[in-house]
Amino acid sequence: MKWTQFLIPTSKECPADAVVPSHQLMIRAGLVRQVAAGSYSYLPLGFRSLRKVEAIVREEMNRAGAIELNMPALHPIEWWEQTGRVEAMGDVLLSLAGTGDDWRSRTVLGPTHEEVVTEIARAYINSYKQLPVSLYQIQTKFRGEARPKSGVLRTREFLMKDAYSFHSELDGAGGLGETYQTMYDAYCAIFSRCNLPYVPVEAESGPIGGDASHEFMVPTDAGEDYLVQSEDGSYAANLERADVQPITEKSAESQAPVKEVHTPGLATIDEVSDFLKCKPRQMIKTIIYEVNGEPLVALVRGDHEVNESKLARTAGVSFVTPAESPLIKKLTGAEVGFAGPVGLNARVIVDQAVTLMQGAVTGTNKTDYHVTGVNPGRDFEIKETGDIRMAVEGDCAPNGSPLVFKKCIEVGHVFKLGTKYSDAMQATFLDNNGKAKSLIMGCYGIGLNRIMAAAIEAHHDESGICWPMTIAPFHVVICALDMRVEAVSTLAEKLHDELTEAGVDVLLDDRDARPGFKFKDAELIGFPIRITVGKRGLEEGIVEIQIRQTGDTVKTAPENAVATVQKMVQDAM
Ligand code: ATP
Ligand code: MG
Repeated sequence: MKWTQFLIPTSKECPADAVVPSHQLMIRAGLVRQVAAGSYSYLPLGFRSLRKVEAIVREEMNRAGAIELNMPALHPIEWWEQTGRVEAMGDVLLSLAGTGDDWRSRTVLGPTHEEVVTEIARAYINSYKQLPVSLYQIQTKFRGEARPKSGVLRTREFLMKDAYSFHSELDGAGGLGETYQTMYDAYCAIFSRCNLPYVPVEAESGPIGGDASHEFMVPTDAGEDYLVQSEDGSYAANLERADVQPITEKSAESQAPVKEVHTPGLATIDEVSDFLKCKPRQMIKTIIYEVNGEPLVALVRGDHEVNESKLARTAGVSFVTPAESPLIKKLTGAEVGFAGPVGLNARVIVDQAVTLMQGAVTGTNKTDYHVTGVNPGRDFEIKETGDIRMAVEGDCAPNGSPLVFKKCIEVGHVFKLGTKYSDAMQATFLDNNGKAKSLIMGCYGIGLNRIMAAAIEAHHDESGICWPMTIAPFHVVICALDMRVEAVSTLAEKLHDELTEAGVDVLLDDRDARPGFKFKDAELIGFPIRITVGKRGLEEGIVEIQIRQTGDTVKTAPENAVATVQKMVQDAM
């Protein structure tokens, strides 16, 4: 392929809103072009990389025994109503704007395909003899992301590989557990091949439900999630899921009685702690949630945050929602901001750290008042307790090793779904006793565009991208320093043809431009190998081969260049 025949709009400029390196570099290297917030065109170079990621994903899915199919983006909303996910997805679920009984008003754009694939299974899988089976597709997803950002890391339209497995059993040969492990291993293989520094973590299952899930995280400042790892490397979880070792440090003993203090208009932890000259950690935060119309109260230390997933798990409910002010006012008899556990008549879950507090400050269910001197256990009963808070710096993992926090981006996610979707959609099979049972399911998603951008986050320097060989748009660029010199152009074209013949992806920079200009572009785009063919080199009888990642160069006789480069490419793959 010749540069002058391609479309490679490199540029020095990048939009002001491009703050993360992958976003800046993908625009500057001419890989993508923004169409609208959260939607991008893949220009020829970017598309080549995306296709390479796709090929790796497809190969590993096939190796894992999954079967490819393709499902549409247009879904009947009825199926989403059957699984109760119209509410759970909220604004993420995009629907076509139609009026009345126009078909558009009953059609949504698929953000994921559990419903569609479960309907297929319901129609065609009738017997345990057809199980297990794993189906996958590589297809465009649509999501009404509120804040698309960071280039292609978070968009409203993106390419996902989604796989779904169906089983008659949870465990044992052919069970969900086995396929889950196979998929987990396939994901590790995919990320290794794309040269991503990934970390698998335990994760919350979110609205997709189910009882076990892992996310694959790539540490990067461009990420919006937090990865929590123990210093000893034995524990990793995402922040939403991270368990902490119980705190043992008790507050100083206090015999002081409970005392009401006037705190006019002061409703937040910061305002009250400032006013009363106490530390947030000496306060008890009283957060009211709603579960099926009833209040559920969570108590955490003032410097801690409630973890809603942990709270729901401790309470034994599937999810909790923050209560609206009417419910709060009805329960406390006060304005929002003055709730407290003393004398509160509701189900209360007390975080473990709160059970060690003495002489605490908290709300008193009376507008404009707080109380001091509160001792949990003495001044209110501790009926239910557990770990219901977010991990923070300074916490330890359950095994006692200190926790370290890193920003990261999720590139893949595997879930054990169980029978959530098959129950909701009555997708059953007959077991070996002829008894109808719900299909047991797993699902496994990977974002292809995100892999590409995460690879750039992990592999770039001040001059540009340093593509891993496996997903580089071209393995090699040949910089022909003066195409008008016949010896140069003849050799450059010969190398191009022979490398292509040898199965190497090579781009010949045949532009009539200065060497410095060509080198800058080659570094910006980040081809793993650059071959420089110039008049001076030829006079010495050499061409120069440079490795983008290390900057190392070797000089070689032109007749050895093809074999040398071919070996470099093979070794890197
Ligand atoms: P996030 O928490 O980042 O919003 P998610 O948990 O909603 O992601 P899943 O439903 O698990 O994502 O989707 C599977 C994979 O699809 C993710 O691991 C990610 O690689 C990719 N993905 C999800 N949302 C986006 C998006 N808006 N843009 C690009 N890729 C995405
Ligand atoms: Mg996810």
